[in-house]
Amino acid sequence: MSTNVILARMGEVTLKGLNRGVFENKLMSNLKYRLRGFGKLSIFQSQSRIWIEPKEENNEYFEDEAKAMDILNACAQVFGIVSVSFAHKFEGGYDEIAKEAISYVEEYLQNHPEQKTFKVESKRGDKSFPMNSMELSGEIGHELLERFSELSVDVKKPDFVLSVEVRDFNYVYAGKVMGHRGLPVGTAGKGMLLLSGGIDSPVAGYMMASRGMQLDAVYFHSYPYTSDRAKDKVIDLAKIVSRFSGRMNLYVVDFTQIQLDMYKNSRQDMLTVTMRRVMFQIAEELAKKTGCGCLITGESLGQVASQTLEAINITNEVVELPVFRPLIGLDKEATCDLSRKIGAFETSILPYEDCCTVFVAKHPKTHPKHKDIEEAESKLDIKQMVYNGVNNNLEIIEI
Ligand code: ATP
Ligand code: MG
Repeated sequence: MSTNVILARMGEVTLKGLNRGVFENKLMSNLKYRLRGFGKLSIFQSQSRIWIEPKEENNEYFEDEAKAMDILNACAQVFGIVSVSFAHKFEGGYDEIAKEAISYVEEYLQNHPEQKTFKVESKRGDKSFPMNSMELSGEIGHELLERFSELSVDVKKPDFVLSVEVRDFNYVYAGKVMGHRGLPVGTAGKGMLLLSGGIDSPVAGYMMASRGMQLDAVYFHSYPYTSDRAKDKVIDLAKIVSRFSGRMNLYVVDFTQIQLDMYKNSRQDMLTVTMRRVMFQIAEELAKKTGCGCLITGESLGQVASQTLEAINITNEVVELPVFRPLIGLDKEATCDLSRKIGAFETSILPYEDCCTVFVAKHPKTHPKHKDIEEAESKLDIKQMVYNGVNNNLEIIEI
Protein backbone atom coordinates (compact mmCIF):
# COMPACT_ATOMS: atom_id res chain seq x y z
CA MET A 1 0.00 0.00 0.00
CA SER A 2 1.32 3.40 -0.88
CA THR A 3 0.09 6.96 -0.33
CA ASN A 4 0.37 9.65 -2.97
CA VAL A 5 2.23 12.69 -1.68
CA ILE A 6 3.89 15.84 -2.99
CA LEU A 7 7.51 16.78 -2.52
CA ALA A 8 8.40 20.49 -2.75
CA ARG A 9 12.00 21.68 -2.74
CA MET A 10 13.04 24.98 -1.18
CA GLY A 11 15.57 27.26 -2.85
CA GLU A 12 17.27 30.47 -1.83
CA VAL A 13 15.63 30.31 1.60
CA THR A 14 18.03 27.57 2.61
CA LEU A 15 21.02 29.85 1.98
CA LYS A 16 19.88 32.19 4.75
CA GLY A 17 21.90 32.28 7.93
CA LEU A 18 20.59 33.07 11.38
CA ASN A 19 17.17 34.20 10.20
CA ARG A 20 16.60 31.15 8.01
CA GLY A 21 13.79 30.08 10.35
CA VAL A 22 11.88 33.28 9.70
CA PHE A 23 11.99 32.67 5.95
CA GLU A 24 11.07 29.01 6.28
CA ASN A 25 8.12 29.74 8.56
CA LYS A 26 6.83 32.33 6.14
CA LEU A 27 7.18 29.92 3.24
CA MET A 28 5.28 27.25 5.17
CA SER A 29 2.45 29.61 6.07
CA ASN A 30 2.23 30.96 2.50
CA LEU A 31 2.09 27.41 1.19
CA LYS A 32 -0.64 26.47 3.65
CA TYR A 33 -2.64 29.52 2.61
CA ARG A 34 -2.15 28.80 -1.11
CA LEU A 35 -3.29 25.19 -0.67
CA ARG A 36 -6.32 25.98 1.48
CA GLY A 37 -8.74 24.82 -1.24
CA PHE A 38 -7.29 21.33 -1.67
CA GLY A 39 -8.78 19.48 1.30
CA LYS A 40 -7.24 18.75 4.70
CA LEU A 41 -3.50 18.40 4.28
CA SER A 42 -0.53 17.61 6.42
CA ILE A 43 2.37 19.85 5.39
CA PHE A 44 5.71 19.37 7.06
CA GLN A 45 9.28 20.32 6.51
CA SER A 46 12.34 18.18 6.69
CA GLN A 47 15.65 19.84 5.89
CA SER A 48 15.31 21.75 2.61
CA ARG A 49 12.18 19.92 1.55
CA ILE A 50 8.50 20.03 2.25
CA TRP A 51 6.19 17.03 2.14
CA ILE A 52 2.49 17.46 1.49
CA GLU A 53 0.05 14.65 2.20
CA PRO A 54 -3.73 14.37 2.29
CA LYS A 55 -5.05 13.93 5.83
CA GLU A 56 -8.18 12.17 4.69
CA GLU A 57 -8.73 9.32 2.27
CA ASN A 58 -10.26 9.99 -1.13
CA ASN A 59 -8.70 13.40 -1.66
CA GLU A 60 -9.28 13.63 -5.42
CA TYR A 61 -6.31 15.95 -5.97
CA PHE A 62 -3.95 13.15 -4.97
CA GLU A 63 -5.59 10.34 -6.93
CA ASP A 64 -2.91 10.23 -9.62
CA GLU A 65 -0.28 12.44 -11.23
CA ALA A 66 -2.68 13.98 -13.75
CA LYS A 67 -5.21 14.89 -11.06
CA ALA A 68 -2.38 16.28 -8.93
CA MET A 69 -1.39 18.84 -11.57
CA ASP A 70 -3.59 21.55 -10.03
CA ILE A 71 -2.02 21.23 -6.63
CA LEU A 72 1.47 20.82 -8.10
CA ASN A 73 1.02 24.06 -10.06
CA ALA A 74 -0.33 25.85 -6.99
CA CYS A 75 2.74 24.80 -4.98
CA ALA A 76 5.01 25.92 -7.83
CA GLN A 77 3.51 29.41 -7.64
CA VAL A 78 4.56 29.93 -4.05
CA PHE A 79 7.75 31.99 -4.06
CA GLY A 80 10.60 30.12 -2.41
CA ILE A 81 9.74 26.78 -4.02
CA VAL A 82 12.21 25.55 -6.64
CA SER A 83 10.40 22.49 -7.92
CA VAL A 84 7.68 20.01 -6.98
CA SER A 85 7.16 16.32 -7.70
CA PHE A 86 4.36 13.83 -7.30
CA ALA A 87 5.58 10.85 -5.26
CA HIS A 88 4.53 7.47 -3.89
CA LYS A 89 5.24 6.95 -0.19
CA PHE A 90 5.31 3.45 1.29
CA GLU A 91 6.98 1.10 3.76
CA GLY A 92 8.91 -2.11 3.19
CA GLY A 93 12.10 -3.55 1.75
CA TYR A 94 13.47 -4.15 -1.72
CA ASP A 95 10.42 -6.03 -3.05
CA GLU A 96 8.07 -3.21 -2.16
CA ILE A 97 10.41 -0.67 -3.68
CA ALA A 98 10.56 -2.61 -6.95
CA LYS A 99 6.77 -2.98 -6.99
CA GLU A 100 6.18 0.72 -6.36
CA ALA A 101 8.81 1.76 -8.90
CA ILE A 102 7.00 -0.28 -11.54
CA SER A 103 3.55 0.99 -10.65
CA TYR A 104 4.83 4.59 -10.55
CA VAL A 105 6.49 4.32 -13.95
CA GLU A 106 3.44 2.63 -15.44
CA GLU A 107 1.28 5.59 -14.48
CA TYR A 108 4.00 8.07 -15.43
CA LEU A 109 4.27 6.67 -18.95
CA GLN A 110 0.53 7.01 -19.43
CA ASN A 111 0.93 10.76 -18.91
CA HIS A 112 4.25 11.03 -20.76
CA PRO A 113 4.11 8.41 -23.53
CA GLU A 114 6.81 10.24 -25.52
CA GLN A 115 9.45 9.55 -22.88
CA LYS A 116 11.62 6.57 -23.78
CA THR A 117 14.85 6.81 -21.81
CA PHE A 118 15.44 6.93 -18.08
CA LYS A 119 17.86 6.46 -15.25
CA VAL A 120 17.36 5.60 -11.62
CA GLU A 121 18.87 7.64 -8.78
CA SER A 122 18.74 6.36 -5.24
CA LYS A 123 19.34 7.94 -1.87
CA ARG A 124 19.55 6.13 1.42
CA GLY A 125 18.78 8.00 4.61
CA ASP A 126 18.52 4.57 6.24
CA LYS A 127 22.08 3.23 5.99
CA SER A 128 21.07 -0.16 7.39
CA PHE A 129 19.42 -0.96 4.08
CA PRO A 130 21.27 -4.03 2.69
CA MET A 131 22.15 -2.50 -0.69
CA ASN A 132 24.11 0.68 -1.34
CA SER A 133 22.62 3.39 -3.57
CA MET A 134 24.43 2.23 -6.71
CA GLU A 135 23.27 -1.34 -6.28
CA LEU A 136 19.71 -0.30 -5.57
CA SER A 137 19.59 1.96 -8.67
CA GLY A 138 21.03 -0.84 -10.81
CA GLU A 139 18.54 -3.43 -9.60
CA ILE A 140 15.51 -1.17 -9.98
CA GLY A 141 16.78 -0.18 -13.44
CA HIS A 142 16.81 -3.84 -14.43
CA GLU A 143 13.33 -4.43 -13.13
CA LEU A 144 12.04 -1.49 -15.17
CA LEU A 145 13.81 -2.62 -18.36
CA GLU A 146 12.28 -6.06 -17.97
CA ARG A 147 8.80 -4.75 -17.38
CA PHE A 148 8.76 -1.92 -20.00
CA SER A 149 10.23 -3.08 -23.31
CA GLU A 150 9.84 0.40 -24.80
CA LEU A 151 12.28 1.94 -22.30
CA SER A 152 16.05 2.10 -22.40
CA VAL A 153 18.63 3.53 -20.02
CA ASP A 154 20.45 6.77 -20.74
CA VAL A 155 22.57 7.95 -17.84
CA LYS A 156 23.70 11.19 -19.52
CA LYS A 157 20.49 12.73 -20.87
CA PRO A 158 17.50 10.67 -19.85
CA ASP A 159 13.93 11.73 -20.62
CA PHE A 160 13.11 11.12 -16.98
CA VAL A 161 14.88 10.28 -13.74
CA LEU A 162 13.18 7.90 -11.36
CA SER A 163 14.23 8.85 -7.86
CA VAL A 164 14.15 6.28 -5.11
CA GLU A 165 14.58 7.37 -1.51
CA VAL A 166 14.91 5.03 1.42
CA ARG A 167 14.25 6.76 4.73
CA ASP A 168 11.86 6.10 7.59
CA PHE A 169 9.49 5.68 4.68
CA ASN A 170 10.37 4.95 1.06
CA TYR A 171 9.57 7.32 -1.78
CA VAL A 172 9.61 7.01 -5.57
CA TYR A 173 9.00 9.89 -7.93
CA ALA A 174 9.87 11.19 -11.38
CA GLY A 175 9.36 14.47 -13.18
CA LYS A 176 9.30 17.94 -11.79
CA VAL A 177 7.12 20.97 -12.12
CA MET A 178 9.49 23.92 -11.91
CA GLY A 179 8.67 26.51 -9.27
CA HIS A 180 9.03 30.29 -9.51
CA ARG A 181 11.92 30.39 -7.02
CA GLY A 182 12.43 33.73 -5.24
CA LEU A 183 11.82 34.49 -1.56
CA PRO A 184 8.63 33.98 0.45
CA VAL A 185 6.17 36.85 0.20
CA GLY A 186 6.03 38.74 3.47
CA THR A 187 9.75 38.71 4.17
CA ALA A 188 10.53 42.01 2.41
CA GLY A 189 7.92 44.55 3.45
CA LYS A 190 5.00 45.80 1.39
CA GLY A 191 4.84 47.88 -1.79
CA MET A 192 2.10 49.82 -3.56
CA LEU A 193 1.83 48.62 -7.15
CA LEU A 194 0.49 51.08 -9.72
CA LEU A 195 -1.59 48.56 -11.62
CA SER A 196 -2.99 49.45 -15.03
CA GLY A 197 -4.66 47.16 -17.52
CA GLY A 198 -1.50 46.80 -19.57
CA ILE A 199 1.15 44.15 -19.96
CA ASP A 200 3.88 45.71 -17.85
CA SER A 201 2.55 46.50 -14.40
CA PRO A 202 1.32 42.98 -13.52
CA VAL A 203 4.77 41.67 -14.41
CA ALA A 204 6.38 44.39 -12.26
CA GLY A 205 4.23 43.29 -9.31
CA TYR A 206 5.15 39.66 -9.87
CA MET A 207 8.84 40.53 -9.92
CA MET A 208 8.79 42.45 -6.65
CA ALA A 209 6.69 39.74 -5.01
CA SER A 210 9.29 37.21 -6.12
CA ARG A 211 11.76 39.03 -3.85
CA GLY A 212 9.45 38.56 -0.91
CA MET A 213 7.47 41.78 -1.15
CA GLN A 214 3.82 41.81 -0.22
CA LEU A 215 1.62 43.97 -2.47
CA ASP A 216 -1.27 46.35 -2.42
CA ALA A 217 -2.34 47.92 -5.70
CA VAL A 218 -3.83 51.17 -6.93
CA TYR A 219 -5.70 51.69 -10.17
CA PHE A 220 -6.71 55.09 -11.56
CA HIS A 221 -10.11 54.76 -13.16
CA SER A 222 -11.70 57.40 -15.39
CA TYR A 223 -15.25 56.30 -15.83
CA PRO A 224 -16.93 56.64 -18.34
CA TYR A 225 -13.85 57.40 -20.44
CA THR A 226 -12.57 54.05 -19.34
CA SER A 227 -15.32 51.46 -19.16
CA ASP A 228 -16.18 49.22 -16.26
CA ARG A 229 -14.87 46.39 -18.39
CA ALA A 230 -11.46 48.05 -18.17
CA LYS A 231 -11.80 48.06 -14.39
CA ASP A 232 -12.88 44.40 -14.37
CA LYS A 233 -9.80 43.63 -16.42
CA VAL A 234 -7.59 45.28 -13.80
CA ILE A 235 -9.37 43.26 -11.09
CA ASP A 236 -8.68 40.10 -13.09
CA LEU A 237 -5.02 41.06 -13.42
CA ALA A 238 -4.83 41.72 -9.69
CA LYS A 239 -6.21 38.22 -9.10
CA ILE A 240 -3.57 36.74 -11.39
CA VAL A 241 -0.77 38.57 -9.57
CA SER A 242 -2.26 37.54 -6.22
CA ARG A 243 -1.87 33.85 -7.07
CA PHE A 244 1.80 34.56 -6.48
CA SER A 245 1.73 37.47 -4.06
CA GLY A 246 -1.18 36.45 -1.83
CA ARG A 247 -3.97 38.61 -0.49
CA MET A 248 -3.96 42.26 -1.55
CA ASN A 249 -6.16 45.33 -1.45
CA LEU A 250 -6.84 47.03 -4.74
CA TYR A 251 -7.56 50.75 -4.37
CA VAL A 252 -9.61 52.16 -7.22
CA VAL A 253 -9.17 55.92 -7.46
CA ASP A 254 -11.88 57.94 -9.17
CA PHE A 255 -9.68 59.83 -11.61
CA THR A 256 -12.25 61.30 -14.00
CA GLN A 257 -12.59 64.81 -12.66
CA ILE A 258 -8.84 65.12 -12.17
CA GLN A 259 -8.24 64.06 -15.76
CA LEU A 260 -10.83 66.48 -17.09
CA ASP A 261 -9.36 69.39 -15.11
CA MET A 262 -5.94 68.61 -16.43
CA TYR A 263 -7.13 68.19 -19.95
CA LYS A 264 -8.68 71.66 -19.78
CA ASN A 265 -6.04 73.55 -17.82
CA SER A 266 -2.68 71.96 -18.47
CA ARG A 267 -0.24 72.22 -21.35
CA GLN A 268 -1.15 69.59 -23.94
CA ASP A 269 2.39 68.39 -24.55
CA MET A 270 2.90 67.97 -20.79
CA LEU A 271 -0.36 66.15 -20.07
CA THR A 272 1.08 62.71 -19.51
CA VAL A 273 3.85 63.82 -17.19
CA THR A 274 1.51 66.08 -15.22
CA MET A 275 -0.96 63.25 -14.87
CA ARG A 276 1.74 60.84 -13.76
CA ARG A 277 2.98 63.26 -11.10
CA VAL A 278 -0.52 63.41 -9.63
CA MET A 279 -0.86 59.62 -9.82
CA PHE A 280 2.40 59.19 -7.95
CA GLN A 281 1.35 61.59 -5.21
CA ILE A 282 -1.99 59.87 -4.72
CA ALA A 283 -0.30 56.48 -4.74
CA GLU A 284 2.21 57.70 -2.15
CA GLU A 285 -0.52 58.98 0.16
CA LEU A 286 -2.26 55.61 -0.06
CA ALA A 287 1.05 53.81 0.44
CA LYS A 288 1.78 55.72 3.61
CA LYS A 289 -1.72 55.08 4.96
CA THR A 290 -1.46 51.34 4.35
CA GLY A 291 2.07 50.62 5.51
CA CYS A 292 3.70 50.33 2.09
CA GLY A 293 7.35 51.35 1.95
CA CYS A 294 7.67 51.95 -1.78
CA LEU A 295 5.82 52.43 -5.04
CA ILE A 296 6.14 49.94 -7.91
CA THR A 297 5.52 50.68 -11.58
CA GLY A 298 5.88 48.84 -14.88
CA GLU A 299 8.00 51.55 -16.48
CA SER A 300 10.75 50.58 -18.90
CA LEU A 301 13.33 53.09 -20.03
CA GLY A 302 12.51 54.75 -23.33
CA GLN A 303 9.37 52.73 -23.99
CA VAL A 304 7.12 55.79 -24.34
CA ALA A 305 7.50 59.56 -23.99
CA SER A 306 6.83 59.48 -20.26
CA GLN A 307 9.58 56.94 -19.71
CA THR A 308 12.60 58.92 -20.82
CA LEU A 309 15.17 59.70 -18.15
CA GLU A 310 14.01 63.33 -17.93
CA ALA A 311 10.33 62.40 -17.68
CA ILE A 312 11.04 59.75 -15.07
CA ASN A 313 13.08 62.22 -13.02
CA ILE A 314 10.44 64.89 -13.14
CA THR A 315 7.82 62.37 -12.08
CA ASN A 316 9.99 61.00 -9.30
CA GLU A 317 10.57 64.40 -7.77
CA VAL A 318 7.08 64.66 -6.33
CA VAL A 319 7.39 61.63 -4.03
CA GLU A 320 9.59 60.74 -1.07
CA LEU A 321 9.17 56.98 -1.11
CA PRO A 322 11.46 54.99 -3.40
CA VAL A 323 9.87 53.92 -6.68
CA PHE A 324 10.84 50.44 -7.83
CA ARG A 325 10.75 49.79 -11.55
CA PRO A 326 11.80 46.19 -12.00
CA LEU A 327 11.24 46.30 -15.78
CA ILE A 328 13.41 49.36 -16.36
CA GLY A 329 16.05 47.46 -18.34
CA LEU A 330 13.86 44.88 -20.07
CA ASP A 331 12.69 45.12 -23.65
CA LYS A 332 9.04 44.56 -24.46
CA GLU A 333 9.51 41.01 -25.71
CA ALA A 334 11.20 39.93 -22.48
CA THR A 335 8.31 41.45 -20.53
CA CYS A 336 5.77 39.69 -22.76
CA ASP A 337 7.53 36.37 -22.09
CA LEU A 338 7.22 36.95 -18.37
CA SER A 339 3.61 38.00 -18.79
CA ARG A 340 2.87 34.69 -20.55
CA LYS A 341 4.75 32.77 -17.90
CA ILE A 342 2.57 34.17 -15.13
CA GLY A 343 -0.63 33.68 -17.13
CA ALA A 344 -1.45 37.39 -17.47
CA PHE A 345 -0.81 38.00 -21.16
CA GLU A 346 -4.19 36.95 -22.58
CA THR A 347 -5.96 39.21 -20.09
CA SER A 348 -3.53 42.11 -20.56
CA ILE A 349 -4.05 42.27 -24.34
CA LEU A 350 -7.84 42.52 -24.13
CA PRO A 351 -8.62 45.77 -25.92
CA TYR A 352 -10.24 47.97 -23.26
CA GLU A 353 -8.86 51.47 -23.16
CA ASP A 354 -6.88 52.53 -20.14
CA CYS A 355 -7.07 56.12 -19.04
CA CYS A 356 -3.70 57.07 -20.49
CA THR A 357 -4.87 56.28 -23.99
CA VAL A 358 -8.02 58.38 -23.73
CA PHE A 359 -6.45 61.59 -22.49
CA VAL A 360 -3.27 61.23 -24.43
CA ALA A 361 -1.43 64.20 -25.96
CA LYS A 362 -0.70 64.02 -29.66
CA HIS A 363 2.85 65.31 -29.34
CA PRO A 364 4.08 64.71 -25.81
CA LYS A 365 7.28 66.41 -24.77
CA THR A 366 9.88 63.67 -24.50
CA HIS A 367 12.55 65.68 -22.65
CA PRO A 368 10.59 67.91 -20.27
CA LYS A 369 12.38 70.58 -18.21
CA HIS A 370 11.38 72.16 -14.93
CA LYS A 371 10.05 75.28 -16.56
CA ASP A 372 7.74 73.08 -18.66
CA ILE A 373 6.21 71.39 -15.67
CA GLU A 374 5.93 74.65 -13.74
CA GLU A 375 4.02 76.13 -16.61
CA ALA A 376 1.89 73.05 -17.07
CA GLU A 377 0.88 72.96 -13.42
CA SER A 378 0.51 76.71 -12.90
CA LYS A 379 -3.25 76.66 -13.42
CA LEU A 380 -3.86 73.46 -11.46
CA ASP A 381 -4.56 73.00 -7.77
CA ILE A 382 -2.44 69.90 -7.42
CA LYS A 383 -2.84 69.61 -3.65
CA GLN A 384 -6.60 69.61 -3.96
CA MET A 385 -6.42 67.04 -6.77
CA VAL A 386 -4.34 64.70 -4.64
CA TYR A 387 -6.68 65.21 -1.70
CA ASN A 388 -9.69 64.43 -3.87
CA GLY A 389 -8.04 61.36 -5.35
CA VAL A 390 -7.34 59.90 -1.95
CA ASN A 391 -10.65 60.87 -0.35
CA ASN A 392 -13.44 61.04 -2.94
CA ASN A 393 -15.15 57.82 -3.98
CA LEU A 394 -12.15 55.68 -3.17
CA GLU A 395 -13.12 52.05 -3.65
CA ILE A 396 -11.26 49.27 -1.87
CA ILE A 397 -11.50 45.79 -3.36
CA GLU A 398 -10.14 42.80 -1.44
CA ILE A 399 -8.39 40.42 -3.78
P1 ATP B 1 1.39 49.00 -18.60
O1 ATP B 1 1.55 47.97 -19.65
O2 ATP B 1 1.70 48.48 -17.22
O3 ATP B 1 0.04 49.67 -18.67
P2 ATP B 1 2.55 50.98 -20.21
O4 ATP B 1 3.64 50.46 -21.04
O5 ATP B 1 1.19 51.12 -20.82
O6 ATP B 1 2.46 50.10 -18.89
P3 ATP B 1 2.26 53.64 -19.16
O7 ATP B 1 0.85 53.65 -19.55
O8 ATP B 1 3.13 54.82 -19.48
O9 ATP B 1 3.06 52.38 -19.70
O10 ATP B 1 2.34 53.43 -17.63
C1 ATP B 1 3.55 53.23 -16.95
C2 ATP B 1 3.23 52.69 -15.57
O11 ATP B 1 2.41 53.60 -14.85
C3 ATP B 1 2.44 51.40 -15.61
O12 ATP B 1 3.26 50.28 -15.77
C4 ATP B 1 1.74 51.44 -14.29
O13 ATP B 1 2.61 51.02 -13.26
C5 ATP B 1 1.44 52.91 -14.11
N1 ATP B 1 0.08 53.24 -14.62
C6 ATP B 1 -0.26 53.72 -15.83
N2 ATP B 1 -1.59 53.92 -15.94
C7 ATP B 1 -2.13 53.54 -14.75
C8 ATP B 1 -3.46 53.49 -14.21
N3 ATP B 1 -4.53 53.86 -14.93
N4 ATP B 1 -3.62 53.05 -12.95
C9 ATP B 1 -2.55 52.65 -12.21
N5 ATP B 1 -1.29 52.68 -12.66
C10 ATP B 1 -1.07 53.12 -13.92
MG1 MG C 1 -0.59 51.39 -19.72
